[in-house]
This record gives sequence, C-alpha cells and structure tokens, in this order.
Amino acid sequence: MRAVVLGSDGEPCLSEITEPPPPGELVTVLACGLCGSDMEKIGVWPEGAVLGHEVVGRTAEGQRVALIHHTGCGTCSRCVAGHESTCEQFPEPTIVPGGFAERVRASGWVELPDTVDDAHGTYVEPLACVLRGVAHVPRGRVLVVGNGFIGRLFGAVLEQRGDTVFAVDRNPLRAGAPPDGPVDAAVLCAPGGVEDAVEAVEPGGTMLVFADARAIPAAAVYRRELTVIGSRSATPSHMQEAVALLPTLELPTPAVLPLERVGEALTLFREAAVLKVVLVP
Ligand SMILES: [Zn+2]
Ligand SMILES: [Zn+2]
Repeated sequence: MRAVVLGSDGEPCLSEITEPPPPGELVTVLACGLCGSDMEKIGVWPEGAVLGHEVVGRTAEGQRVALIHHTGCGTCSRCVAGHESTCEQFPEPTIVPGGFAERVRASGWVELPDTVDDAHGTYVEPLACVLRGVAHVPRGRVLVVGNGFIGRLFGAVLEQRGDTVFAVDRNPLRAGAPPDGPVDAAVLCAPGGVEDAVEAVEPGGTMLVFADARAIPAAAVYRRELTVIGSRSATPSHMQEAVALLPTLELPTPAVLPLERVGEALTLFREAAVLKVVLVP
C-alpha cells in the first residue's frame, strides 16, 4: 500500500510499504490531518516511520470513524488523577503504522455523524486535546497565544462557552484581537510567546501550557501567584465530546491534498500559508 514515510534524508516522501499485520482492526484511511506535532517528528523519528494521527477511516463493518490516538490504562494512579497522557501505557501506538497511509491497524475509534465530512472529521482528535485543556481554563477573559489551527480551536470553544477571547500571534497575518486589558487566563498554543502571556495575565490568573513554550519566568509566577497548568493530548471520552461539539463550531476550512502531494502540504504548513492541511489517500 502507499504511505508517506520518513526518507533517508529525514523528509517525508511517498513510498510503497506492506500492510500492517494484526493486532488491531484494519481501517481504510479516508483522510488524515497534518499536525504541528507531526512536523516536530520530522528529522527526529527513524527512517521509514509513518506520521499522522488525526485520522478518519472506514472500518471493516463500514462505520466511518475518527481514530483514537493513544490511551491510558484507566486504572493507574496517574490515570485516576486525570493525568492519562502521562500513563506508562499511553505512548503505546494505537494507529499503526501512522495515518498517512492507505490503511492502518487501529485499536479504538469514535463514530462520525454524516454531518461531518472526512476532512473536518480529522479535527476530532485535535479538538479532543483542546477540550481536555479548556477544562482547566477559568471562565472570563482569555488570551490565546499562537493563533494557528490549535489557537482557533481554543478560540471557538472558549467563545462558545461565553468567554471573551483575545488572540496574538507572531505572524501578523494570524493575529486576532489583542487584549485590551488584563486577562483572567492565557493559553500557550505555540512555542514562544510566554512573555506575552505572563504580561497579560492578572495576578492570581492561570496559564494553560499547551505547547513546549520554552522557559517560563518563575519570578513572575511567584510574585503574581499565577497558576500554571500543563495539558497534552486527549482521552477517548474527550474524543466523544469532540464529535458532539464539532458540528456546532465555526472552524477554518482545511486545504485537502492527495497523499502524493505531501511535499506541497509540508510547504503550506511551513510557510503558514493555510491553517490546516489534510491529506487523503
Ligand atoms: Zn495532532
Ligand atoms: Zn494509566
């Protein structure tokens, strides 16, 4: 089958690979979103690796589904405490070899309604991650730092629950409404920008760290008694929540490209020319 694999130069390229053997159900991939965390694996993961975890596919039974990407054991102390993404079982692959392929083996999914098309269905996974993070954000005035795709998801969810949302981005083309005064909380969706966040948050406010935002100024956290919370990835129940919420949100339209145009997809992403790229086999 065809798949996008990391080549010997570290760059993703289209290749022929063998279909993955069991365990897992064989799922025909219909669409897979390109995510910032995929980009971080380029040049880091070994040659032959297949990226992609925002997957919509069709099961052998004909169900159209969004695949679950990683899951905790549900019983260890970290899972019970709500830190499922730090569970020792969590890194185990659940989508093999990866979503940028014609077929994958999968161990879990949520069913998609007909109102959500394949390309938008790839938003279920990132939206689930965002919903898990939003639960930690106090209501009120919220600044989103990094207004790319994930920032837009945060903005849409926060606005829907009634917050006043501001957004900044280092790319002036992506900037939203800058904060017109102190905010109750900031969400760090991009590397960098932590200073913007700390500066904007009221004493006693909250910073949700949703990206590797580099060094956080501890002096400001200390003196202004800020609450800093990390959140990464999602759980199956957040996937269910995301499926229900997705049709009600106004979200960016993805650029949809066939698998063989992966090079173009990478360029669009790197040049920040679009907010989301989805590849279809
Ligand atoms: Zn992702
Ligand atoms: Zn666990």
